[in-house]
Amino acid sequence: MKKRHPETVAIHGGSEPEHKSGPLATPIFQTSTFGVEDNDEQRRVTHSDRFYTRYGNPTHTVAEKTIAELEGAEAALLFASGMGAITTTVLALVRAGDHIVAQADLYGGAMKFFSHWLPKFGVETSFVETTRAADFERVVRPNTRLMYLESPTNPTLKLVDLGRAVGIAKQHGLTTLIDNTFATPINQRPIEHGVDIVLHSATKYMAGHSDLIAGVAAGSRKLMEQVWETRTTLGGTMDPHAAFLLLRGLKTLVVRVERHNQNALRVAQFLEKHARVKRVNYPFLASHPQHALAVQQMSGGGGLLSFEVDGTAEETRRFTESLRMFALAPSLGGVDSLVTLPVVTSHAMVSPEERKQMGITEQLVRLAIGIENAEDLIADLEQALAVVAPAKEHAHAD
Ligand SMILES: *Cc1c(COP(=O)(O)O)cnc(C)c1O
Repeated sequence: MKKRHPETVAIHGGSEPEHKSGPLATPIFQTSTFGVEDNDEQRRVTHSDRFYTRYGNPTHTVAEKTIAELEGAEAALLFASGMGAITTTVLALVRAGDHIVAQADLYGGAMKFFSHWLPKFGVETSFVETTRAADFERVVRPNTRLMYLESPTNPTLKLVDLGRAVGIAKQHGLTTLIDNTFATPINQRPIEHGVDIVLHSATKYMAGHSDLIAGVAAGSRKLMEQVWETRTTLGGTMDPHAAFLLLRGLKTLVVRVERHNQNALRVAQFLEKHARVKRVNYPFLASHPQHALAVQQMSGGGGLLSFEVDGTAEETRRFTESLRMFALAPSLGGVDSLVTLPVVTSHAMVSPEERKQMGITEQLVRLAIGIENAEDLIADLEQALAVVAPAKEHAHAD
């Protein structure tokens, strides 16, 4: 069959086209177990989606096939959360004595797993400055097994050069993994760059409505088989009802992401020109230090951006609390716009010195742009920015 476009895959992805009669929506197989005719059949179904839901479930299968096709992977697996997908997949691939290379900017939970949990089992990780992919080469050891990536990053929207990182990994026989949550398969398809496994917090854009927790891993059938074995043992499988909600979200993924991209670019351009804003981080702004790489490896900038208020820490807090349309809440990827201060959310546990090195100041604001009207979002930002006093040295320019 001709390769289908993502818009079509999102809607028809995992469902069987030959089934013309029957429900249009995928039924929720809200069951823990499945009955069989006899013990021969019992033996046959153990490795299927009709045995016991921790092993698999027909509602999962439809979502897994859809996501695999969107990512250009042979297979995908669902998990109870993004962290479930990350930890289970990594544990499936390493053993005591192994070494991992990872970039320095990672989702907080993943960073904690690599730096705190894996060492307890004799697995060490070396971290490399995210924007210097060539440096991965320097930390590779004879016992290095995995390269772990994430792009764009939270909250400063740095990118990792996928072609370069994968080139080094292939030369050293490493398995590459990427957390593709921020980009989604609509804006970035890492498997086409040679990445082996794509991970997602499907809680975010894939589900898209801030109403469930979900995770995904996608890759070759062989690797997913290994991950499946581990998932059935560790037990972080998704509930069938959550899989149904995820499928419902996936159907509109393409149109939502297109709107997130448009809105975020408009908001980024507005903020960049605003007198009370110092700096805007958004990959599709020409001012982004890796803009050339962004347009080369991504087809859209995504819905996340961050910026620095040209004011005090107190004014920055007041600004975030003065917004009417942006909810002050962590997370991202839903239809609603959200605002957070990384110093009180994702990076609250990081020391002030480390934060400074990462470019995370008291004035840094992160916006997760939703799919509302861009003019309305901009008007809300404009009224809230009025709480920031004009900088003295700028006053004459008004
Ligand atoms: C939210 C998030 C995770 C963790 O996912 P959960 O679904 O909350 O477990 C991992 N990576 C990124 C980039 C995220 O934004």
